[in-house]
Amino acid sequence: MSILKVARMGHPVLRAKARALDKRDIREATIQKLIDDMIETMTEYHGVGLAAPQVHEGLRLFVAALDGRGDDEEAPTPVAIINPEITVVGSEIVEDWEGCLSIPDVRGRVPRAREIRVRAYDRKGERIELRAHDFPARVIQHETDHLDGVLFFDRMKSFETLTFLDEYARYWAKEN
Ligand SMILES: [Zn+2]
Repeated sequence: MSILKVARMGHPVLRAKARALDKRDIREATIQKLIDDMIETMTEYHGVGLAAPQVHEGLRLFVAALDGRGDDEEAPTPVAIINPEITVVGSEIVEDWEGCLSIPDVRGRVPRAREIRVRAYDRKGERIELRAHDFPARVIQHETDHLDGVLFFDRMKSFETLTFLDEYARYWAKEN
């Protein structure tokens, strides 16, 4: 496995719409290796999600650790989500902090649907459907946005909460 180079904000690959994967291509060795490398890259940089465009691959694929915040002692097993289609459940919108490996050391509060349903393929090419709420739902929405060239800045209602990580730790983290 290898650690991949992460594209940073400003790289055009982050603004392009990624293309869907063919079901029969998912089991190909190149895609399986890409998934393994993306999981290793995400873990290396302490991310909770990483989308293929962030590693310069314009494919509708992301990996994510969905069971928790990713900073637990028992880290959740990362999963691959391919060609995700999100349906919002209910109308509740919640605002919470987000960061992005392509926008290093910055945090901001982003409104997201509280609950969603996702249809996708898993890494075996099998159809999956899952329901998620709160933090995992936020991660899935953030990563799916990457597949459409959307960054979390685009979803913020205002930039008043935009903060560097040091200042986040100093002024904001305790208020949660
Ligand atoms: Zn991101």
